[in-house]
Amino acid sequence: MDSGDTLTTLKILIIGESGVGKSSLLLRFVDDTFDVEQPATIGVDFKVKSLMSVDGNRTKLAIWDTAGQERFRTLTPGYYRNAQGVILVYDVTKKDTFSRLENWLSELTTFANRGNLVKMLVGNKIDSAKREVSRDEGLKFARKHHMLFIEASAKTNEGVKTAFEELVEKILQTPGLWEA
Ligand code: GDP
Ligand code: MG
Repeated sequence: MDSGDTLTTLKILIIGESGVGKSSLLLRFVDDTFDVEQPATIGVDFKVKSLMSVDGNRTKLAIWDTAGQERFRTLTPGYYRNAQGVILVYDVTKKDTFSRLENWLSELTTFANRGNLVKMLVGNKIDSAKREVSRDEGLKFARKHHMLFIEASAKTNEGVKTAFEELVEKILQTPGLWEA
């Protein structure tokens, strides 16, 4: 690592219904592991990962998971505070997790203090043979709500790295979002 590189720390949230694979996506991205027995409550606040961008600068990501609180709709305003990016996850095999996306967006609007935070919609579990939400439905929802969009699988690793990298790239391109 060259000295003098800029180090930017970004706060990224992962939200969405319980069971959609939020913790699995995080573990896949940070540790490159997947556990079918992923417990509903893993009890971590956040995990940290460094990314090297094309210009050679490092970006440190503090990625906040929920320790199962989303199940009871008790994510506190502190969870959302100062986040620059959010990954909103649904499960392509469960329509109801897609139907509840609007609720998550309104919670974001209520609690996130940066109005210009970058949002990435992730349709997870595309490895599964069962599907209740088409790629097109996901894409339409994302466009309507000005979000980035990708389909992914924490199980096979498809789309996972791209989801985080595109989110970070967009944050770094958004004036006033990450400086200071
Ligand atoms: P969370 O409640 O949103 O954090 O969801 P978890 O990460 O705990 O995952 C819930 C369940 O879905 C676990 O049994 C995972 O193994 C499973 N799961 C997560 N991601 C995937 C995926 O991409 N494909 C499949 N088939 N199962 C997944
Ligand atoms: Mg979890």
